[in-house]
Amino acid sequence: MTESHANPLFREWNAPDVLPPFADVRPEHFAPAFEAGVAAHDAEIAAIAGNSAAPTFDNTIAAFDRSGRMLSRVELLFWNLAASETSPALQALERNWSPRLAAHANRIYLDDALFARIDALHGQRTTLTLTPEERRLLERVHLDFTLAGARLSASAKARLGEIVQRLATLSTQFSQNVLADESGYELVLTSERDLAGLPDQIRTAAREAAHERGKEGVAIITLSRSLVVPFLTFSDRRDLREQAFNAWRRRGENDGAHDNRGIAREILALRHEQAVIHGHRTYADYALVDRMAGTPAAVAQLLEQAWAPAKARALQERDALRALALSRGEQIQIEPWDWRYYAEKVRKARYDFDEAAVKPYFPLDRMLAAAFDCAQRLFGIRFIERKDLVAYHPDVRVFEVRDHADAPVAMFLSDNFARATKRGGAWMSSYRNQSRANGTLPIIVNNNNFAKAPEGEQTLLSADDVRTLFHEFGHGLHGMLSQVNFERLSGTHVLRDFVELPSQIFEHWAFEREVLKRHALHYETGAPLPQALLDRLIEAGKFNKGFETVEYVACALVDMALHAQTDPAGTDVTAFEKSELARIGMPREIGMRHRPPHFGHLFSGSAYAAGYYVYMWAEVLDADGYDAFVEAGNPFDAATAARLHRFVYSAGGTLDPAAAYRAFRGRDPVVEPMLAKRGLLDAKAANRAEA
Ligand SMILES: [Zn+2]
Repeated sequence: MTESHANPLFREWNAPDVLPPFADVRPEHFAPAFEAGVAAHDAEIAAIAGNSAAPTFDNTIAAFDRSGRMLSRVELLFWNLAASETSPALQALERNWSPRLAAHANRIYLDDALFARIDALHGQRTTLTLTPEERRLLERVHLDFTLAGARLSASAKARLGEIVQRLATLSTQFSQNVLADESGYELVLTSERDLAGLPDQIRTAAREAAHERGKEGVAIITLSRSLVVPFLTFSDRRDLREQAFNAWRRRGENDGAHDNRGIAREILALRHEQAVIHGHRTYADYALVDRMAGTPAAVAQLLEQAWAPAKARALQERDALRALALSRGEQIQIEPWDWRYYAEKVRKARYDFDEAAVKPYFPLDRMLAAAFDCAQRLFGIRFIERKDLVAYHPDVRVFEVRDHADAPVAMFLSDNFARATKRGGAWMSSYRNQSRANGTLPIIVNNNNFAKAPEGEQTLLSADDVRTLFHEFGHGLHGMLSQVNFERLSGTHVLRDFVELPSQIFEHWAFEREVLKRHALHYETGAPLPQALLDRLIEAGKFNKGFETVEYVACALVDMALHAQTDPAGTDVTAFEKSELARIGMPREIGMRHRPPHFGHLFSGSAYAAGYYVYMWAEVLDADGYDAFVEAGNPFDAATAARLHRFVYSAGGTLDPAAAYRAFRGRDPVVEPMLAKRGLLDAKAANRAEA
């Protein structure tokens, strides 16, 4: 048998309900498939670029969008596995192939003959007979080439190629270092004294983490968010909280093999050079060209509207924490490792609300069913579990998605549990993108990092976990509901500050009373979440928003400042962070949500570089957008849902985002619903009165 027959990556998986060959694929299959995929793609590009016929939309733009099918199929599988179920062999492949694959992509975007054809068509775009989607694809592809440097001189292109390749290597190192620091850390809890204050579910999860590491009879807190955050929230042991918090905040900043400071410094310098080559003053200016916000000034305006009221609110919150500590006879200054702990106590006192009390009403399986039910009521799709299909890990559940007419829409993989082979955080990704031109339906995955209940028990979620589940599912729907012709415009391939709208708006349904009444049922008794607890949950949802907004906006401001430097060479990211936080007046009791040495959004790839603000930008859109359902008087209002489906969830990148939003909402977005949602509108007013 030839290699291509024995290697499952050489077979297609294009049929609607066919998944990638998870059971058959082994790490050694990837290198030959990458080689063959790159060669096939190169040949296709050469044919398009060398075509003797004059350029047309079909023979150039559509052909380009169709090219590289095998490579993209194999790459999507590879990058997904590297994130969700990695191994030393996959990590080695990643280090070896990420620069080579980046170089391949880069070569295509710097191909003069190909760009000449695209540029010629772009010059004729107003006179060509194109559908709106074709016109949009032409403009999109032209901009992709321009941003990649197609217009530059040969020497500038060569340098840019080196930069892109080096950045790919550095990004991989950066995320591998963070993962090493997160899973390598163990706070071992051996006695009841060590466990003081921790609710049963956290004790169980910490024992499970110890068990996974082959340690019995103890409990372990790692730096995985799903363990360390509950620990900081509940542990009565101030000394251990301080230890855990300091380890958590120092991820990527521990001298030695996993230190990320040098990597971050080099990334910043290379990005700046990249921006300058493109004719921009700073990387922030360059990155914002392709965003809905457009300019760093527009971003600054948004962040500043939130920063002052958030800080004012956070200081009020701090005073309440200090008062509570005093009432317990504890004469302390609130430190960053105290905030979550005392906030939980204030929350409990003020709302008589205990996070642990709602968890029994949020079993994972029921909450997933709730997300499916909302999608069905809004968009008419059904999720049918396919237990006959296997994914890459036994914990992954596979669903087939069908529309109201029973036609296949997508496949959905639901991968919810933390494990040592999965990177941290929560994300949506795709194994296959929807495209009518390619005849493909999407295969979408949602990854979460929930702590798994022991064998035979149900996993119960916190309210925050439920929000995360719905958030990623919203991204998932953006991929699954896509109805476009061209892959470049499919699903989540939209501008970076628009991409969080479908995910964030979907979070609203998780905490709709009607949804909770129907789905938030006790995992043992099936009893609904009691009305009083539900009221308090909703009230408590507005609690601590000053802290959360400060924690987030500080990161967004530091991100913009890091990337707005005109001379970033030699940046000491830790010192820079410190001086920037001093400049904006960061309350000393609050830590950044992500510090530069482990800020994966910024350094594990460039997608969110000078772009961490996008969550808040999208929140302006989601809060204002959800108000359309509130105004209609029904969270499942059919006409509003139909517009949301048409102009947002199914449209991919076929529409200009501002125009898409306007078509859905009937007007431009306003910022007040976002501030109101965070309970900051009155803080804003108070602030204005003081000024
Ligand atoms: Zn998101």
